[in-house]
Amino acid sequence: MSAFAPLLISPNSVLANALLRSVDILRPRIQATRPRRIEFVVGTQINGAPHLGTNLVQSTAFFLAKLVRGEFSVETSVRFGALDNAPHDVILDPETHHAYQQTYFHALGKAGVGDLIDTYYRAFFDSLSEATATDYTLETYTDQQATPGFRAEFLRTLERLEDIRWWMAPSHGVVHTRLPCPDCGWAEKRADRTKLVGLGEDGARFAAVCFDHGPYEVDVDPQTDTYLDLATLYRNLVKERLLCRDTTTLHVMLKGGDWTFGSQLVDGALGAIGTPGHQMPVRIFTPQVLAHTGAKLSKSLLRERGKGALPADVEPWMLDTTTWPGDTDHYVDALLWLVGELLTDPKHFFRSFTVKELGRLMTDRPADLDQRPRAHEMGIYKRYFDLITSGRKTTEIRVDDSSRKRLKVGDLLRFRCRDEEILTRITRLARYTDFEEMFDHEPVSSVNPTATREDQLRNIREIYPPEREALGVVAIGIELMDAPPSED
Ligand SMILES: [Zn+2]
Repeated sequence: MSAFAPLLISPNSVLANALLRSVDILRPRIQATRPRRIEFVVGTQINGAPHLGTNLVQSTAFFLAKLVRGEFSVETSVRFGALDNAPHDVILDPETHHAYQQTYFHALGKAGVGDLIDTYYRAFFDSLSEATATDYTLETYTDQQATPGFRAEFLRTLERLEDIRWWMAPSHGVVHTRLPCPDCGWAEKRADRTKLVGLGEDGARFAAVCFDHGPYEVDVDPQTDTYLDLATLYRNLVKERLLCRDTTTLHVMLKGGDWTFGSQLVDGALGAIGTPGHQMPVRIFTPQVLAHTGAKLSKSLLRERGKGALPADVEPWMLDTTTWPGDTDHYVDALLWLVGELLTDPKHFFRSFTVKELGRLMTDRPADLDQRPRAHEMGIYKRYFDLITSGRKTTEIRVDDSSRKRLKVGDLLRFRCRDEEILTRITRLARYTDFEEMFDHEPVSSVNPTATREDQLRNIREIYPPEREALGVVAIGIELMDAPPSED
């Protein structure tokens, strides 16, 4: 529809002016480090029904995974961090007036957090995963902080506490590390009386005071199972420092646009502890969803101020996406359409949107979107696209990467070429070690009736470098879902 009426109009910006396409923002790091895989990392506080802003970040992670896999010929996946250290309750000690908090994990337990994830995210992610042919993993913060790698990274930052503390806490220089009381699980919210009392090769020892159980000490080393609850900036410092040590997988952090401001402090701390340039985090900030005042759409504002604080034009599903009028696939398809439209132009993607404007976009989405069957999607060059639509090409050849392993006989497969697309059904799948072996078994003319085996081999190897061919080859038999146009 964008062909005859622009769906969106966006002003230019410094970043958009530097990019032809939104995904180009990843190109410098990919060129510099040549990663074997790219993982899109998205973290979400597990504290009830998600709002649109949250789901927008998550959908973008999956959409980019699909886009980048095609654009850069590299395996991609999504890593979802379920932040179950979000505060469940906060109370004031009546005597000292120090604030104490309890995380969702401590209030609900592992099973309770698992239930929350299943209720609000599991079906949503499974649907995103299917729609974008992208695998994902899910890890809670509780699981993450328990890993030896995370804890060792934390201990290394403690050795440099003097260098990072003003970055992590620019107003007072006191870094908040919460070590919950071993008896009740409550911790000092602002670590008022939490002290680092020992740090050595055997780990760190903290002293703290529980409002109920009095003074206690907690040891942290890579193997202990004591709970380490870090404030948001510090948690990001440790997480990003750890992930970016990986030299084979590039981790791309997906964050809501409001993070642009806070990330400067994390980068300051990463620099202060000598993080090399090629290990600085790569982040993509997604559009902020704003109320008419320009404030971020926020559930905490709703909780604190009641419905009166809400803009009149916010739709119920934007605040609680479980009230979307349709099933999960329907919602995911609409969101992915939206993300796809935003990503078409860096001017649209690297900006913010009011709820009213997003509501308008969603209302203007193509009417047939709801009727379009779910299908695998592949981009294809024009000459091959034309051979498929004419019914002369009945076998498509691809390297057997993770997205192809999802193909099943009988599934629908949509080929896209610029603004054109055609829907086919998979009739047959055959897997081979390389293109030579494939052509030993597949009729050459079914792959391309206009070229010899030698020509096709040469062409195909210009498209796929040896490391891609090494994944193996899949031959996909296809039939058209619509009759080919009759020849005159
Ligand atoms: Zn206690």
